[in-house]
Amino acid sequence: MKLLTSPFTPVSICVVGSGYVGLVAAVCFAEIGHHVVCVDNDEAKVESLRAGKTPIFEKHLSELLARHLGRGLAFTTDLRTAAAESEAIFIAVGTPQSDTGAADLSYVEAVVSEIASSICGYKLIVEKSTVPVYTNEWIRRVLQRYGVSSSSFDVASNPEFLREGTAIVDFLHPDRIVIGTSSERAMDVLQRIYHPLISGSYYALPAALRGSCNRNSPPPLVATSAQSAEIIKHASNAFLALKISFINAVANLAEAVDADIEDIAAGIGLDSRIGPRFLRAGLGYGGSCFPKDLSAFHLVAQEQGVDFQLLQEARKINSAQRDRFYNKILSALWTLRGKRIAALGLAFKGDTDDIRESPAIDIVRRLLDGGASVCAYDPAAIDRSRSVLPESPQMSYARSTYEAAEDADAVIILTDWKEFAALNLARLKACLRFPIVIDGRNLYSVQTMCDAGFDYISIGRPIAASANLGHAEQIAV
Ligand code: NAD
Repeated sequence: MKLLTSPFTPVSICVVGSGYVGLVAAVCFAEIGHHVVCVDNDEAKVESLRAGKTPIFEKHLSELLARHLGRGLAFTTDLRTAAAESEAIFIAVGTPQSDTGAADLSYVEAVVSEIASSICGYKLIVEKSTVPVYTNEWIRRVLQRYGVSSSSFDVASNPEFLREGTAIVDFLHPDRIVIGTSSERAMDVLQRIYHPLISGSYYALPAALRGSCNRNSPPPLVATSAQSAEIIKHASNAFLALKISFINAVANLAEAVDADIEDIAAGIGLDSRIGPRFLRAGLGYGGSCFPKDLSAFHLVAQEQGVDFQLLQEARKINSAQRDRFYNKILSALWTLRGKRIAALGLAFKGDTDDIRESPAIDIVRRLLDGGASVCAYDPAAIDRSRSVLPESPQMSYARSTYEAAEDADAVIILTDWKEFAALNLARLKACLRFPIVIDGRNLYSVQTMCDAGFDYISIGRPIAASANLGHAEQIAV
């Protein structure tokens, strides 16, 4: 691979899709000096972005949008014009799970066929969405079918590893930048695009957002084939999901033998070969990526004749984890009908408003189906939740933890928001009908909750119980 040594030159970039990935990529490309137009076919979203409003909850997003809107950054619904005027076109539309479990690539295909009609002069098409191996090849074929000459475009894979909640900083301070292509021309354009990060020059700017990279320690570039880049993304997500399911399986064992998963996870995570991250026992993973990516990756392996049952096992453990948690609630409350439960958290994890495949939403639904009434609080995800859990006599939303807890029979913690780990426990106890906390995210130490006078049921740890839990619950939980 030829490494870029020339000075920075801005690239005209079109980002298709203004969701969690597309919007973050667009503002960050503008932040590092490029001319960016971000396209979405959702007119209302584009209108609101043009007015400087961010459709998602993400730290630093409003700040960067305000900094670049109308300068290096514009929004449009007109893909053809945006593509025609850009040198590089990043595809960042959704790749949801289809009925078969495979990734639904119809949004990607729709974008590619529209781009085909606007190719005039050289274009680099970059897959940023998470896609199965050989999607790169399919994009190439579709363009050729539409009569685009292979000399006037390249396709490259540049998977995105940002995490919702820290997406902007993750994008600007990535652990690595993966570029998959066999074309030198494509590699040259992508190196120009990432030059401010790879060279470290961005980090020397006074206004640069701070993070883990700096001028002397810029992110490494991993240059590889398109197939390898596609697999790097799927395999990374699969591995993280495996880690979560692994610790949850160990948590279940810990529970059975009266051990403590937090001590066990600390003991495992201190091994530098393993590391402490993603070893948090709890309700399991959710979100718009891990569930669908594991499923798609498993199918890719199957199609290639590779027996990758490990992935199925991780999914099985993850879904059983929700059942176990629901049973813990039942064990603590006996019956649900007529019970009032305070649910803390709706987002699939803390620091985001994303509720896609959220374990919290699933648990609340089960409680409602079981006849309980639920009052939920989440610092950011209530508006989105109203569309899937509409308000009713059974389902209500509160403006704070304490309002949700008012007169409740129990509190359940479903999302690992920092504010849920720092509650005023005396105040919480005073709000509740019974001091019962069932914690699906292990946010408190058992001792703390015991000292505060709660019956505290968590994951993979002994329960702290008082007279509120009967003998059966103390054994069954
Ligand atoms: P999203 O659903 O939030 O956003 C997708 C956007 O694309 C939407 O705004 C939609 O209106 C737009 N869109 C769909 N079809 C379009 C078309 N034909 N023309 C223009 N716009 C169109 O999705 P997301 O979470 O940003 O994910 C996008 C991709 O990135 C997925 O493949 C996902 O797996 C991957 N990814 C997501 C994350 C994450 O944390 N969300 C992280 C890494 C990778």
